[in-house]
Amino acid sequence: MAHYTLNVEGNILKLFMSISSVFESHKTKGYYMLKPLENRKNIRLTPLQQKIFDTVKNGGEITRDQIEENVRFSPSVLKTLLDKEIIERIEKPFREESAPYVYHYSAPVLSKDQHSVAMSLINHVHEGGYSASVIDGVTGSGKTEVYFEVIAHVLKAGGQVVVLLPEIVLSPQWLERFEQRFGEKPVVWHSDISERMRRKAWLDIAEGKARIIVGARSALFLPYLNLKLIIVDEEHDASYKQEEGVIYQGRDMAVLRAHLAKIPIVLASATPSLETVENCNRGRYKRYVLKNRHGIAVMPKVSLISLKAPQEKRKKQLWISDQLAELISKTTERQEQVLLYLNRRGYAPVTLCRDCGKKIECPRCSVSLVEHRIHEDLRCHHCGYSQSFHAQCLSCGAEDSFVSCGPGVERIAEEVKTRFPSLRSLVIASDHVNAKQGLSGFLDQINQHHVDVIIGTQIMAKGHHFPSLTLVGVIDADLGLSGADLRASERTFQTLQQVSGRAGRAEKPGHVYIQTYFPEHPVMQALSTTDKDQFVEQELMMRSQAQLPPYGRMIAFIFKGLKESSVESAAKRFARCFPVSDQYRFLGPIQAPIYRIRGQFRWRALLMSNRDFPLQKMVQKALESFTLDPSVRMSIDVDPYSFL
Ligand SMILES: [Zn+2]
Ligand SMILES: [Zn+2]
Repeated sequence: MAHYTLNVEGNILKLFMSISSVFESHKTKGYYMLKPLENRKNIRLTPLQQKIFDTVKNGGEITRDQIEENVRFSPSVLKTLLDKEIIERIEKPFREESAPYVYHYSAPVLSKDQHSVAMSLINHVHEGGYSASVIDGVTGSGKTEVYFEVIAHVLKAGGQVVVLLPEIVLSPQWLERFEQRFGEKPVVWHSDISERMRRKAWLDIAEGKARIIVGARSALFLPYLNLKLIIVDEEHDASYKQEEGVIYQGRDMAVLRAHLAKIPIVLASATPSLETVENCNRGRYKRYVLKNRHGIAVMPKVSLISLKAPQEKRKKQLWISDQLAELISKTTERQEQVLLYLNRRGYAPVTLCRDCGKKIECPRCSVSLVEHRIHEDLRCHHCGYSQSFHAQCLSCGAEDSFVSCGPGVERIAEEVKTRFPSLRSLVIASDHVNAKQGLSGFLDQINQHHVDVIIGTQIMAKGHHFPSLTLVGVIDADLGLSGADLRASERTFQTLQQVSGRAGRAEKPGHVYIQTYFPEHPVMQALSTTDKDQFVEQELMMRSQAQLPPYGRMIAFIFKGLKESSVESAAKRFARCFPVSDQYRFLGPIQAPIYRIRGQFRWRALLMSNRDFPLQKMVQKALESFTLDPSVRMSIDVDPYSFL
């Protein structure tokens, strides 16, 4: 793994041992036990002393609290027994006793399709050894039930299972479903759990007591005693890619881990990543397709609203088209709910001075500050910097000259309030969610129908289903398409497909309306015809022609530091390690699209080759003879997902 990600071995080791406290000395506690018989004095005991004696005898080694659960006594009685050398007390590391995990398994009713996929996967478990399978199923097709079935199987056979989920904090519904099926909460592992829970989980996993672990990508590095199955749900999700510290792709590491441990891995998604599709095409992964929604629910209809159409010429500062507005009225009149989706936090992404044209930027990063009305400030989404709103432009001194440009979710909420004063609306974005409770409070409000219109960012795109939600309106489908990201189309397609899946998951059919300026774009066409395969094929062909992943390999180099000239010269010096060749292409170095973050200047370079070329080896060689100016840091990103 260190070899693949080009990381120092120590860094990888740190991932495995990330819970330092487990290795620190534990708190100790006093334990009581009987003195060995030959040393024990033979004296008559009072009835109370006898009772304590019996309790300690039965308990083996027990704490004072545990004795007190059986016998009430004053401290002096215990002291007498100690003084008379009948019992003894020793200090031992204290380990919180955990209740045993008891998994009950209530069998679900699976459709014929689900059943046959589950059986195939269970077969892989039976056969033993490494295998990689993909459950490719539309939203609502019951992928989770299918892999639950496989989990149940592994559990019965005594093995451990790890399930990776993106952003586990935000998956209360998943945990609920799990508990319903297995009668027990799984062990949850992510960065927000307390130190105490962390230690307990770590030990329970190492001792094989905890059998099902669900967590973020770091759950991969826990010390499993008997790991028999890995599941990666929403395998296409970009959050599997760790971008800080040790840069790695959680999904790919999971496959590697399964390979090394010689166990099966199951990837699940409604919109598998092109990397995964290509691995299926090459026969490396087995693909199982679930075409239909489970139960009576049908797939939502998807329609495009062209913002180019003359009747939709955008009225000043309005973002909901007339067509969508009418649909909102009709839907809410039927007592059904609406989700308006816009993946942009805050009120407005850009604030301009009307007089001098200057944007308000972060003093530490080369990006615009985003206006957040609920916090009454402007925030940097890259470094967390915030400042209160000044009435005066700092560049030209004009008063009250600022204009907000473009919408964020808060601005859409404002529009809903103005245009539909009688409707109850709710904004859900990560700014509004606290880490502990996650979304549960919001989800309850929606389920109890205290809300008519939900305005949400991508945290609303995932896994939740609401029986009365029948209309999804995508405010700006083009948002993700711009920029130099090679996966822009793929990601837009995946996200919008996922958002669409929120509509009509129960008895009521759903309808999705997508507002776009590019209705003829392949992504929009694929969404509206729900012909996913055609889109995937086209994308793969394009990538293949351009030798981009999954057909080509990429390694990105990011140089950063406070001294602009040193960063630039380091990047340029590094480039010289890669003479022109027809085996690979070295692009750059160039100033990164976001040139400054947290005051540090950034340069980027990109190394590309076809997929069979040993790119890592070459980089390793280059690194041997390259020394970095101490003021500059370089990070190496194998298979980069971010190009900023
Ligand atoms: Zn100005
Ligand atoms: Zn910043």
